Amino acid sequence: MRVKEERILERLAGSAETPANLSRRMFVGAAALASAGFAASPALAQDRAEQKAGRTPPSLSDLGPENKTLLKGNPNSNQPPFTDHGNPGPIWFSFDLAPKRMQGGGWTHQVTQRELPTSKDIAGVNMRLTAGSFRELHWHTADEWAIMLTGKARVSVMQADGKMFIDDVSQGDLWYFPAGLPHSIQGLEDDGCEFLLVFNDGAFSEDDTFLLSEFLAHTPPEIVQKNTNWSRETFDQLPATELYIFEAPLPGSLEQDRKFLGKFLETENKYTFHLTAMSPTLTTPGGEIRIVDSENFPVSKNIAAAMVTLKPGAIREMHWHPDASEWQYWIQGSGRMTVVTTGAKARTMDFNANDVGFVPAVAGHTIENTGTEDVIFLEMFKAAKYQDVSLNQWIARMPNSMAIAHLKLPLKTIRSAPQDKAVVLKS
Ligand code: MN
Ligand code: MN
Repeated sequence: MRVKEERILERLAGSAETPANLSRRMFVGAAALASAGFAASPALAQDRAEQKAGRTPPSLSDLGPENKTLLKGNPNSNQPPFTDHGNPGPIWFSFDLAPKRMQGGGWTHQVTQRELPTSKDIAGVNMRLTAGSFRELHWHTADEWAIMLTGKARVSVMQADGKMFIDDVSQGDLWYFPAGLPHSIQGLEDDGCEFLLVFNDGAFSEDDTFLLSEFLAHTPPEIVQKNTNWSRETFDQLPATELYIFEAPLPGSLEQDRKFLGKFLETENKYTFHLTAMSPTLTTPGGEIRIVDSENFPVSKNIAAAMVTLKPGAIREMHWHPDASEWQYWIQGSGRMTVVTTGAKARTMDFNANDVGFVPAVAGHTIENTGTEDVIFLEMFKAAKYQDVSLNQWIARMPNSMAIAHLKLPLKTIRSAPQDKAVVLKS
């Protein structure tokens, strides 16, 4: 007979085969859990204690059908740590589950408030352009922050004063296009590119942008004629429907395009940023963090970002952000995140490359690298400036009596914790 079935039968029969010390441990565990805010019926308290001791309690056994493929990648969702409780709402989605819109010349898919309903501040789009292909010239109501994941592109944005910024971006480079300013993205040789776009509006949709083609196609032809001096026949030659993503010849050199712009080339405002060329804001034995916000990337007025690297076993320390929710994009590796919100609600889930994570505004959270390679992920905020509050730093600042009163621990133990913000802690 399987062990878990034996345990169920034991419990049904009220059998006391469990050693006394285990019962005692269970009682102590149950009491601790009850004081930690868990509603503890005796059976639930016993199951929580079993979980705490690293065993699968009868209440978590799963006798019915299971999606083994999903469960393999989500052990923490299937068998949550005993500290999980209640439901703080969705904290995970993956671009690999988002429908792909394929066009000649590339594809796009998005993780917005429609896919991840908790994320009201930020939406993300993942896009591929083959060499030469354009994302049609467009503009939108949200600001656009972007990172090149692989390959190269030429990007341009025109300011309201008529000056245009144009640059080439490659892996690890960022761009930022403020709301309302028209812009372009074109894949370059050898094989185009793939990038991530982040918008400061959870309801943003990449299928709902203002397009050059549609502005022209849906204005009466005689007005287009007056506006452009083009003939009535020319109107009929314009694209009648959106181009969106489409193939085009590769452009000439960046220098040629800049020369064409001449005095209308914008050189003061820099709309691109070389993130991976930037030295880390902080390096620790467990990893590093690069912070990019309006302080070092001035055009990035409404979106702040951090790229975090965690070595195997390392954690992004327990912290929260005082001013914003956090939207994550996982670039590399695998790990798990725990989010703790109000009312003792806590959830732990596993994350892999191409996944999106979400942390409600000001909720405590931590991320652990559970894999064998470095984890690299982005923390994105609808904010001008990056800010976080470190739990360790806060405890370190608590006067002794205040700290002892709250943590119920000897002072020596309390002060053995890191005494300052570490951002990343090694295992
Ligand atoms: Mn755009
Ligand atoms: Mn965070």
